[in-house]
Amino acid sequence: TEKKEVYHFQSEVKQLLHLMIHSLYSNKEIFLRELISNASDAIDKLRFESISLPTLYENDSNMKIQISINKAQKTLIISDNGIGMTRQETIENLGTIAKSGTKSFLESLEKKENQKNELIGQFGVGFYSSFIVSEKVSVRTRFAGAKNNEGTLWESSGEGEYNIKNIIKKTKGTEITLFLKKEEEEFLEIWRIKNIISKYSDHITVPVYIQNYDEKNKTYFWEQINKAQALWTINKSSIKEEEYKDFYKHLTNDQNDPLVWSHNRVEGNQEYISLLFVPEKAAWDIWNRDNKHGLKLYVKRVYIMDNYQEFLPNYLRFIRGLIDSSDLPLNISREILQDNAITENLKKALTKRSLSMLEKLSKDSDEKYQIFWNQFGLILKEGPAEDHENLSKIANLLRFTSIKNNNHKQNMSLKTYISNMDSKQEKIYYITADSYKSAKNSPHLELFNKKNIDVLLLSDRIDEWMMNYLIEFEGKKFQSISKEDSSLNKLTEDKKIKNNELSIEILEFLKKVKTILGDKVKDVRLTNRLTETPCVVLSDSNEMTTQMAKLFSAAGQ
Ligand code: ADP
Ligand code: MG
Repeated sequence: TEKKEVYHFQSEVKQLLHLMIHSLYSNKEIFLRELISNASDAIDKLRFESISLPTLYENDSNMKIQISINKAQKTLIISDNGIGMTRQETIENLGTIAKSGTKSFLESLEKKENQKNELIGQFGVGFYSSFIVSEKVSVRTRFAGAKNNEGTLWESSGEGEYNIKNIIKKTKGTEITLFLKKEEEEFLEIWRIKNIISKYSDHITVPVYIQNYDEKNKTYFWEQINKAQALWTINKSSIKEEEYKDFYKHLTNDQNDPLVWSHNRVEGNQEYISLLFVPEKAAWDIWNRDNKHGLKLYVKRVYIMDNYQEFLPNYLRFIRGLIDSSDLPLNISREILQDNAITENLKKALTKRSLSMLEKLSKDSDEKYQIFWNQFGLILKEGPAEDHENLSKIANLLRFTSIKNNNHKQNMSLKTYISNMDSKQEKIYYITADSYKSAKNSPHLELFNKKNIDVLLLSDRIDEWMMNYLIEFEGKKFQSISKEDSSLNKLTEDKKIKNNELSIEILEFLKKVKTILGDKVKDVRLTNRLTETPCVVLSDSNEMTTQMAKLFSAAGQ
């Protein structure tokens, strides 16, 4: 037989292994969830590929995951008859981390000692978590459809390197053997394994069996330990909260509970089931440009693809979940999906569904909605520009801070702002600035403070841009207070002061200021708007605000 070859882990893998073993130890049982989820993915992939190439099944289409325990050797074996891996895939998948941004993520982790566990949980630790409990891991795998002598053995003790060897493997799929560390013998107990599986993997669609021993007949038998029914196909009323939460974790690899979810079966013209979740914590890479998001797509219970992004607009990219369509063909491709009327309709429906889920959350619990807003508010703020059709719904979900709010927390809705308005106030006033502090201390606010009129204080980078798309809310127009505006003059009885009403001294003064400033300004005027600050820069009503001008010049325009 061929000699084994030695390979080195990518440096990120080494770093991750080290971090994981130390920070996830308190939750070490998750390795089993990860391995079962990989096996179930591999089976999903085989089912999908064999739609067009049935021979891939190799006459074994009875898909299953099997776990066996060898107490004498202290090993735990997890095997599946899924798609398997080629030698090249084994090297790529089990020796590197393909996710972009991993390096900077790991570096940032080093600094956040107290949040490590939480952050690494969001990262999705995957296969490497087997090293939390194992001193050695050995993987035997063969790609479906390949020859028996094209199997691959991968072995490592999780330190710096791994070995690869060509082997004979008669059955397709992957078999993973964990050589447990001495102190991890608890995972050699059948009851313990059964417990973990039913905790994390009850609702994966593939049956999971454990090898058990019948004392009476002195024989081994395979005992099925999960329900193996897709959760989303079950009637809502018979699913417990805990089951949704566990399913969410299984689906997303997120260790945190979801904040809220919405499970719907739609019949009629279009037939589909959707199960959407709002996470409690933003994914570690949500701000990466190539962050994978989107929904998992099934067609009539058959897994088709992950991360399909076209079912939701970009500003809802934090939503996780799945859709199971009965209208699409099984052999649908990404390309065909892209310009498909069904996709378009689904996107409309799922967008509405997501927005109402958020609206309901905001009505049901201020506290939970605030968690949502703090995590994802900045993303939702992209909504007004992206989705004109749902503008008023999105606006209703936005949260702001204001003069009267008197702290930096964005927790006031536009509805609240309007309900606090004086009957004489026609518009919704706002100011944009670089920071909450500079918004709050802006001289533009002096008059509003004096007159007791509330002003929204906007200081997120995206706000200025968003306000270009927020024109009105419930019939009230938005007005930047750093712009010339007649509604304000009316409100303050601040008439525009005409030049012929001014004394010579003041006229001379204004003229002098104007000469000094030259073409830096259009005009210099006297105002009654200010109470403490001597002067303020204002833009014309039809011009961009000074904050916008700053953004443009920062962008080099
Ligand atoms: P993820 O599942 O998030 O991709 P993992 O670390 O869990 O990350 O797995 C890495 C990759 O290794 C998988 O994407 C898959 O390609 C491959 N893999 C792992 N386990 C199996 C398996 N049982 N069968 C086939 N491929 C597998
Ligand atoms: Mg995985």
